[in-house]
Amino acid sequence: MKSTIITIGDEILIGQILDTNSRYISQALNRIGVVVTERTSIGDSAEQIVSTLDRALAQSDVVIITGGLGPTKDDITKHTLARYYNSELVYNEQVGSFVEQLLARRGIAFTELNRGQAMVPQCCTVLHNAHGTAPGMWFERDGKVVVSLPGVPFEMRHLIDDSVVPMLAERFELKAIVHRTMITSGIPESILAERIATWEDNLPDVLHLAYLPAPNVVRLRLSAYEVDGQSVRRMIDDEFDKLKGIIPEAIVGFEDATVEQLVHRWMRENGKTLSVAESCTGGAIAAKFTAMAGASVYFNAGVVSYSNEAKRDILGVNMDDIVRYGAVSETVAIQMAEGVRRAGQSDYAVSTTGIAGPTGGSAEKPVGTVWIGVATPKGSFAVLKNCGTDRSQIIDRATAYAIKLLYDNL
Ligand code: ATP
Repeated sequence: MKSTIITIGDEILIGQILDTNSRYISQALNRIGVVVTERTSIGDSAEQIVSTLDRALAQSDVVIITGGLGPTKDDITKHTLARYYNSELVYNEQVGSFVEQLLARRGIAFTELNRGQAMVPQCCTVLHNAHGTAPGMWFERDGKVVVSLPGVPFEMRHLIDDSVVPMLAERFELKAIVHRTMITSGIPESILAERIATWEDNLPDVLHLAYLPAPNVVRLRLSAYEVDGQSVRRMIDDEFDKLKGIIPEAIVGFEDATVEQLVHRWMRENGKTLSVAESCTGGAIAAKFTAMAGASVYFNAGVVSYSNEAKRDILGVNMDDIVRYGAVSETVAIQMAEGVRRAGQSDYAVSTTGIAGPTGGSAEKPVGTVWIGVATPKGSFAVLKNCGTDRSQIIDRATAYAIKLLYDNL
């Protein structure tokens, strides 16, 4: 079962909003075994809708469309679909009275425009939208299904979960799609690929391998489409077991867990505490931890000590050392980590001090130079990393390196 997702809206094309609907629909379809072969965003244009729909139906059994169902003139999806299916628009009493009640509850008058929302192509099955005024619509011709949903994300989500997914599962005999991900860290992608080349070459045909690199982390995802779920899950377990023998030192977790989630779990399970002192990462490390629910159990303090004085006054870094070695130095990174470990009264601490650019670099310490300090109950040390050339890249990489270095030393 193949599907295409079409999101409609000029606001997507000009970058005013991010197309999050496609992602949600992709995940929902994957879960029930419908393969998404294409996602595409188009403008509010009838010709584009028709030509994209023609192409989508040529390559897939199911097409899900979002957007362009509202009462305003630029919302043309419904009229275009009615023409596409040679169907009249007819007034749907149920939708009409629901919209009227919904608007009355909100104290809004029911206008001619709202009445228009209850006009639906005669040939479609109406999908009740309990959270908005535009209903979903299910069309079927020659065994192929086209579903049109409102663009508003929470309305779309409810319709997908409450109507579209159960209806697809009932209408088609669906097989499973299986994805499993192993998270590796510490081996660059190209070297990792060499080390696991033989394993990769010998994978069963049904399994597809993908490398998903992120700063300091490479995820290896094995996928199988339209298969018997149980046997393929066992097959993937076997393959991951083999991989454990090949790169044991690099495996840090499974599925979508991030390294910060692994630290988070470890801190909670072991009853330890953490503080961070950041210069060039500007709070990015603290933000990663505090974004996770339950961080208050172990996350004691985060200090953004940007100036030399802040490093001295808040963290107790020795000003003579700053002058002698520079703020971006091994000594200062260690003192920052030790200082925040002390000030935050925590078991573990991590620090960053570096040159995020674009200015401030030198021949000896170019932009991208970052010292990362770690202080643990066993002692403290710092590691030098070159984190790239672009400011946001440097911040992202330094953040990832720091969290990984901490994780490796728990
Ligand atoms: P409405 O009845 O509100 O007019 P609609 O079906 O006409 O709904 P749109 O007008 O296309 O939908 O979009 C309504 C709002 O939903 C947009 O302003 C936008 O914020 C959001 N939206 C639309 N499409 C998407 C999308 N693909 N991803 C995320 N948000 C979206």
